Amino acid sequence: MKKHYDVAIIGGGIIGMSIAYHVAKAGKQTLLLEANEIGKQTTSAAAGMLGAHAEGEGHEDIFFQVGRASQALYEKLKVDLQHESGIDIRKSVGGIMKVAFTEEEKRALCRMQHLSTFQWLEASCVKKRMPQIANDIMGAGLIEEDVHVEPYAVCRALWQAAVRYGADVKEFTPVIEVIRDKEAITVRTANGTFTCDDLTIASGVWSGRFFEELGLSYSLYPVKGECVSVWNSGPALAHTIYHDHCYIVQRDSGKLVIGATMKQNDWQAVPTLGGIEAVIQKASQLMPSIKEMQIDQCWAGLRPATSDRHPYIGRHPEDERILFATGHYRNGILLAPITGEIIRDLILGKPVQEEWLHAFRIGRKEALFI
Ligand SMILES: Cc1cc2nc3c(=O)[nH]c(=O)nc-3n(C[C@H](O)[C@H](O)[C@H](O)COP(=O)(O)OP(=O)(O)OC[C@H]3O[C@@H](n4cnc5c(N)ncnc54)[C@H](O)[C@@H]3O)c2cc1C
Repeated sequence: MKKHYDVAIIGGGIIGMSIAYHVAKAGKQTLLLEANEIGKQTTSAAAGMLGAHAEGEGHEDIFFQVGRASQALYEKLKVDLQHESGIDIRKSVGGIMKVAFTEEEKRALCRMQHLSTFQWLEASCVKKRMPQIANDIMGAGLIEEDVHVEPYAVCRALWQAAVRYGADVKEFTPVIEVIRDKEAITVRTANGTFTCDDLTIASGVWSGRFFEELGLSYSLYPVKGECVSVWNSGPALAHTIYHDHCYIVQRDSGKLVIGATMKQNDWQAVPTLGGIEAVIQKASQLMPSIKEMQIDQCWAGLRPATSDRHPYIGRHPEDERILFATGHYRNGILLAPITGEIIRDLILGKPVQEEWLHAFRIGRKEALFI
């Protein structure tokens, strides 16, 4: 006999795992199906910045609102997960220094000056806090709230806690087919068949085939990011250094994570020499001493992008039982807590901010073309 669940989730990255945690905690019989190992795809490639300010284009837009809400959720999540899983998600302090080299960059940054969370620092002040930073900077915007976490630690903690709330998590169980009929949804996998009342597709950049199979148009494509980590032989960085999509993040282990390239439509999650060279070149403009540091490792990951850069979070327009949570692009770590809460609330029939649901709705025309 097929085992039946209230909720099944396809994909065990940080998004699927956050959903599993939130729905299992709300008392739902939950099943999560992961094709490989939990959290080992794009989630493990991430630097882990919670860049609600640093990553946004404007500061009154939906991304900023949702990003700030999710950032705030991390406060409680850190404490809860420590208690529920025994895992420290390594939430840092210090935030991001978003650097300006030119007047134009300074002007762009200072558009955030009306925010109490933003502080402009002149070069001498930045150098005092971070002597390692390049001499030719004009200054930097300090955003203390844009801290970072360790993505795999968050995913593992969500996993352990979800299991504690009764979730079944199955690794090495790729979903082959989703069959819909009146009574239930059937999910056929390489290791058996299950049925459920609600199904959420959270398989990152690989979610496209499910949109197609479920009769939906979508835009979802990879933007490959290549990174390198080095052992910091100098004093620890007090803040993440960030400039033009390039960043240097200090880990507790003493490593610096340096990222990342942006290669559209490249499906090979393997770093190239050219990509790593470009990353090192940019990072050494920000922090010249980095060139002397010993390499730890290089890697690449596939950001799940949509053409309007907003994720897909919500219900299938014609079948209420199917939900999607994918397309989180550069910000899946930041947005994991709020995504878990939104999907949980939709499943429980609780209210969710209409404006957010509208911006992230499935099948929206704005997201259809690259
Ligand atoms: C270099 C780099 C740096 C980044 N830095 C940051 C950052 O600093 N901050 C931030 O917020 N975000 C960052 N991101 C973005 C972030 O990593 C992603 O948005 C996030 O990991 C997406 O999570 P996900 O769970 O949707 O996808 P994934 O982690 O890829 O998980 C999807 C899972 O679905 C599984 N799957 C696929 N098909 C099936 C199937 N048929 N059956 C079962 N399982 C299936 C896959 O095996 C995979 O484990 C970065 C990304 C990259 C590449």
